[in-house]
Amino acid sequence: MTFIVDKTLGKLATWLRILGYDTASGHDADLEKIVRQAQDEARTLLTKDKKLYKESGGLPALLLQEDNPFRQLQEVVRHFRLTIKDDLLFSRCLVCNTLLQAIDPAEAQGEVPDYIYHNHWEFSRCPSCRKIYWAGTHYGHMRKMVERLQEADW
Ligand SMILES: [Zn+2]
Repeated sequence: MTFIVDKTLGKLATWLRILGYDTASGHDADLEKIVRQAQDEARTLLTKDKKLYKESGGLPALLLQEDNPFRQLQEVVRHFRLTIKDDLLFSRCLVCNTLLQAIDPAEAQGEVPDYIYHNHWEFSRCPSCRKIYWAGTHYGHMRKMVERLQEADW
């Protein structure tokens, strides 16, 4: 299942990417363009915009009620009964949605802070925007949030 979010839902897009779901950001203010991209790429539209939701006519779409990004994520997971697969977690670039590629740690030298380079063994890179990822403290925090999501009692 793949998604497109409206431009107010950037944090929700990041969360879906953390879970490994292919999620495009509709940066455009032009609602028609977002609807067209959703159609062309067969994506499910997630929006808080009632007007956009109405104009999406026939497209698979969900009008979100929650304002908090994590609660929005819970809404989406519950509504579509999304599964959370461990091997898909942190597999996508959080910035641009591209699938990450594992890299040789040596490649990260000079591109990440020295203390990161010396204390981590696994790095991956976004082939599109070149951002480098590693499992740091931020990762631990997000991992805990995902566990909360999995434990959540529907
Ligand atoms: Zn990227």
